[in-house]
Amino acid sequence: MKSTVTTTCGICSAGCGMKITFDMERILKIEGQADHPVSRGYLCPKGRAVKELIEAPDRLKSPVKKTSQGQWQEVSWREAIDFVVQNITRIKNSYGPEALAVHVGQAGVGKQFAHYAERFCRAYGTPNFSTAGSHCHISKMMANVITYGVLPIPDYTNSNCIVLWGYNPSSSCPPLMDFINKALLRGARLIVVDPKKTATAKRANLHLQIRPGTGGALALGLLHVIVKENLYDQKFVESWTTGFDRLVDLITEYPPETVEKITWVKAENIREAAVLYAQSPPACIYPGIAVELNTNGFQAARAIAIMQAVTGNLDITGGALFGPSVKLAPLTLKNIKWNNKTAIGQNEYPLFFKHTNNAQANIYSRAILEGKPYPLKGMIVSGSNPLLTWPNAGKLKEALPRLEFLAVVDHFMTDTARLADIVLPAATFLSRGELWDSSPVFGPPRIGLAEKVYREEGCMSDWDFWRELVEKVGYKYILPLLDEESATNCRLKPISLTTEELKQNPHGFVYAERIEKSYETSGFKTPTGKVEIYSEELEKYGYDPLPVYKDPAESPESTPEKAAEYPFVLSTGARNLGYLHSRYRNMPSLRRLNPEPLVEVHKDKAKDMGLKDGDAVLVESPRASIELKVKLTDDIDPRVIYIPHGWSEANVNYLTDSEDLDPVTGFPGDRSLLARIVKMN
Ligand code: SF4
Repeated sequence: MKSTVTTTCGICSAGCGMKITFDMERILKIEGQADHPVSRGYLCPKGRAVKELIEAPDRLKSPVKKTSQGQWQEVSWREAIDFVVQNITRIKNSYGPEALAVHVGQAGVGKQFAHYAERFCRAYGTPNFSTAGSHCHISKMMANVITYGVLPIPDYTNSNCIVLWGYNPSSSCPPLMDFINKALLRGARLIVVDPKKTATAKRANLHLQIRPGTGGALALGLLHVIVKENLYDQKFVESWTTGFDRLVDLITEYPPETVEKITWVKAENIREAAVLYAQSPPACIYPGIAVELNTNGFQAARAIAIMQAVTGNLDITGGALFGPSVKLAPLTLKNIKWNNKTAIGQNEYPLFFKHTNNAQANIYSRAILEGKPYPLKGMIVSGSNPLLTWPNAGKLKEALPRLEFLAVVDHFMTDTARLADIVLPAATFLSRGELWDSSPVFGPPRIGLAEKVYREEGCMSDWDFWRELVEKVGYKYILPLLDEESATNCRLKPISLTTEELKQNPHGFVYAERIEKSYETSGFKTPTGKVEIYSEELEKYGYDPLPVYKDPAESPESTPEKAAEYPFVLSTGARNLGYLHSRYRNMPSLRRLNPEPLVEVHKDKAKDMGLKDGDAVLVESPRASIELKVKLTDDIDPRVIYIPHGWSEANVNYLTDSEDLDPVTGFPGDRSLLARIVKMN
């Protein structure tokens, strides 16, 4: 018997509306919902491949435990949970609760179970809860919050000038392109800042083809032109900013000709972009993860934030919107005391900890291998494949087997799972009920419910896994054993909605209307109530209070001797439409789109080196080397090479670094490292 249900795709945060037709228990068809307010019928290749994900022959359908001979043995869920409880209890009793870390990866971003996992950590007593925010999104969030109290949302629809800075939504959030395209058809201008001529960059009015890692210098150069040519909003600056005079001193050192030498962007293009952006109000900028994944990424994001402020583009239609955001009841426990150990990374990156309450996962290897600040003995990894997605995979691969206990919750036997003591099969988003909250970037903000529409035999939803663990460890007194629906109802209480009501409205409820320039009544949510160009908070923590530029920790400028040996600037970590970081390479329809990992080399450079398309090469960084094939391109600067991340066959994270990290956030410099290419016979 056929039936059709609707839900929301939970793979990435775009939240596309999905329609699934079943024949009894079998998925027949997956389509987009034509009337969905966010995606309007669109599903990207990953969304369309969900049937393959459900039916994948290599899906784990039972927990598996490693025997003393290193073989995998199927065990029941009860045995598996008991094994986890036994090990984490032993670790707590032997070393203290801080010796256990829990990491929830990209699969848990914005998902309710991540809150439950965090609650578990608070009850267990470990401060070491971490998320994908260790290397994604949080750096720019902090930069904006420290500068003006909120991470704004670009209002593409109503903007006259859109700046996509290290951001390519056609790969990372395709439903957004519909909104951007409509704005461009209306006559809005598009500036793209990207080292690569992406499909989006090719459509831009102005493409600033920047040297990877130098976004901070470019932002200061643009500010130089905007300020020197009086293109800024003087009234706003006088009324609503602190430290503008010190910014003026700083940007004096960044005239376009100097910035051209640093960034490789022509001075005339820097001038043109500054004038176009400042003279096309309202204008909006979205800094992508490429801004963050640099050793100066936090300050670069600050400089971009300041540019939006001084041009008067904050909290206006068509500019940088300040919400609103939905006020749900939290599921995390804020006030419970754990033992007095600091989280890993709390001493090195105190502001990161202050803004997230999370440990910094990028330095877990150090804690495991060197016992700093104390030994880490156990980990539970949920919805993440650190070996392919964290920096310096070589060090991590050395570290993870030294743990006394590693549990991985995943759909598949990933590279990280192979190192585990136990692997627990997670159900997909189709088997979870989850709230979705559409960003104001897609129009009036809505809250809705992605309904549980499927039951995956042998698998457990992440929510149920954490709930089981809480029950077995005996934390019921701290963590009520809520099922997902009851937990969702608790979260909805402050806005007087229930899951039942959301079920009746599959396109969700518009929860608020936007108010422009809310700061005029309540000030900015900063210590001074103003936009803090000069941040006393940063100064207090020993960081530069101004958005200073520093060249990448490893670059032709900062380490010329190293660059003589490793002459290419290596950039990695860009999103790909068919995959999500390390996920889905085993889906046949997605694999056909991108069959193998390739290093992109400019065709002129390749000719000089005697390289042809498809030649096998070794790419070496100061840390390691990987083997892969060459793809010729003229979309990048001849001094730059690109390697995608997430491939087990050629794991680029063996080349990346976990020592020189952004000093404020601990983010890695994945977008700008040094490498060389060695031709193989
Ligand atoms: S863009 Fe693709 S992966 Fe993301 S929600 Fe939409 S269909 Fe799912």
